[in-house]
Amino acid sequence: MIFLRAYKTELDLNNKQRTSLTKHAGTARYAYNWGLARKIEEFKAGRKMPTAIDLHRELNALKKTDFPWMYEVSKCAPQESLRNLDKAFSNFFRRVKEKKAYKFSGKVGFPKFKSKKRGLGSFRLTGTIRIAPINAVVLGAMRSTTPSTSLSPQRIKLPRLGWLRLKESGYLPDRRFFTSDNQTDGIKILSATVSEHAGHWFVSLQVEQEIEVEKAQGEPCGVDLGIKSLAVCSDGREIENPKALRKSLKKLRRAQRELSRRKKGGKKREKSRRKVAKLHYRIANIRKDAIHKATSSIVAKNKPQEQRPSVVVIEDLSVENLLKNHNLARAISDVGFGEFRRQLTYKTMWNGVSLLVADRFFPSSKLCSACGAINDKLTLSMREWTCGCGARHDRDRNAAQNLSRLVPIKSE
Ligand SMILES: [Zn+2]
Repeated sequence: MIFLRAYKTELDLNNKQRTSLTKHAGTARYAYNWGLARKIEEFKAGRKMPTAIDLHRELNALKKTDFPWMYEVSKCAPQESLRNLDKAFSNFFRRVKEKKAYKFSGKVGFPKFKSKKRGLGSFRLTGTIRIAPINAVVLGAMRSTTPSTSLSPQRIKLPRLGWLRLKESGYLPDRRFFTSDNQTDGIKILSATVSEHAGHWFVSLQVEQEIEVEKAQGEPCGVDLGIKSLAVCSDGREIENPKALRKSLKKLRRAQRELSRRKKGGKKREKSRRKVAKLHYRIANIRKDAIHKATSSIVAKNKPQEQRPSVVVIEDLSVENLLKNHNLARAISDVGFGEFRRQLTYKTMWNGVSLLVADRFFPSSKLCSACGAINDKLTLSMREWTCGCGARHDRDRNAAQNLSRLVPIKSE
């Protein structure tokens, strides 16, 4: 099976490279804002909005006179940025349509101008992208038929930016696998997105990869995304939220209070702002790491196929659904459920596990897993309850049990 997947890893840069990357991100942001302004201008004049292709042509014509600094960066940066803008508009129009048809009730979100205040941003490059071990002097000599397992430091070659070192080794599919341009045995690099977060630079490779999948054959597993713990499985496992999270959240709240007291435009405010951004970054990392561990353990990727669950069942926790209950929405955004579902979606696919999403009206918590009665009096704050039949339930465990039973039974 061919999958689209992304590999994201941190770059290890010198100052010159940092400057160049900052210029690329700046150009991408500039092109996006310029294109957005142009689209609005044409729209207001009652004309058809220019597409990314129109805008890129227009931008190229203006480059010499108006934006000579754009010659310092890859032409991909503004071009891909204008493509993103087109995508932002098509998403916007789709949501408007859905809203009219009562299929969507959130904010439709007209595309916004990008501000430097929200970080340096990102840019995408296409073209020849290579990955190689750092000490490969003669690249041609590195071509070997057997994939290397050594963890020598790696570097990546991007159009216009040249070779950049990577902090982590052995994570990206290596040059030693490559047979021709952007092509390895079963791996094709489509593009690279470079982005900055709180002073760190990352590269994310979008690749098409062929993965052999063996169908999992173990017992179905219901997963309830808990509020108290990260997740509860129907096999009795409970995956805790990391302890470091609570500590960092506490620190964040303190830092946010401090920031709100600082005078606008002051030096101390800037310092506080940086501190808050750093904490957000750390928290996001802790969360993502915990979710990675949880989703990997749920699909049991290192176990033989008889022990991996054939089906994983989760609830439909669409954002819209959640917003109906303010408290739940808060708690859930705190544990990153969108990310949980995203990871589970691809990890189940790669490991031959089916993913079943329960209907949004399925009363997973209210249903008694022993007798099937529905407890309409169950509120969110009730962590435990006793059914009329006498069964005593832990809220999350009961929900996980109910979810695991949603799997259609195979006819003999
Ligand atoms: Zn019961």
